[in-house]
Amino acid sequence: MNRKKIVAGNWKMNTNFNEALELLNFIQINSTTSPQVEKILFPPFAFIKSIKDALSITNNIKIGAQNCSEFNSGAYTGEVSADMLKSISCDYVLVGHSERRRYFNETSEQFILKIEQALLADLKIIFCFGENLEHRKSNFHFKIVKTQLNEVLSRLPKDKINQLVLAYEPVWAIGTGETASPVQAQEMHLYIRTVIAQMFSEELAQNISILYGGSCNSQNAKELFDCPDVDGGLIGGASLIGPEFCKIINSF
Ligand code: PEP
Repeated sequence: MNRKKIVAGNWKMNTNFNEALELLNFIQINSTTSPQVEKILFPPFAFIKSIKDALSITNNIKIGAQNCSEFNSGAYTGEVSADMLKSISCDYVLVGHSERRRYFNETSEQFILKIEQALLADLKIIFCFGENLEHRKSNFHFKIVKTQLNEVLSRLPKDKINQLVLAYEPVWAIGTGETASPVQAQEMHLYIRTVIAQMFSEELAQNISILYGGSCNSQNAKELFDCPDVDGGLIGGASLIGPEFCKIINSF
């Protein structure tokens, strides 16, 4: 088994330029430099290049974009292509985040195109998915997660799935202060691995990193990360508070 441990911070549409640089500096000074844990920051598009340039080489932090276009290039005002991100040495891109699904009506069809663009540009992808509260209450959460995975992953080249990291993010836990319990997280992550084994192979299922996202903070990170099938976290709100985010990283 060769799974990467990852803690990723999604800054969403927060911080101004100076705040972003201050946050980066705090994280660089105060987070572990252990090679066992990959740290990824997802700043707003506008700051990616400057954040990348401000990285110290001793603290191996990777940088990602929160979105990319489903198109390669051309007359798509306001869009940012995967190629552009690669050209400023971006490492990762987020695809499928629940806020993209909810506020921008993005669909599985678009996620497939975005992932294809990211693969062509040689970016790594964190693919996000997860059930909403109604699904969970009506016991449909496993079915929904399987559908979300199936709709997208079955349409990608099999030999590229290892470029993906998966992020299980139950919508009812994102930004709500309500976290999945370690039992709920472990149960779903194990299920996701079973789905990946059925779709591809046991080897891929054992080697793909699956992150948990949803109101993860310094109080609950350790017990979530201790679950055998939870390989780290995608952190929203708590990643904007330097000391809080560093405690989460250092809890591995
Ligand atoms: C997210 O948006 O991916 C997320 C997990 O947010 P939060 O940690 O704020 O719930």
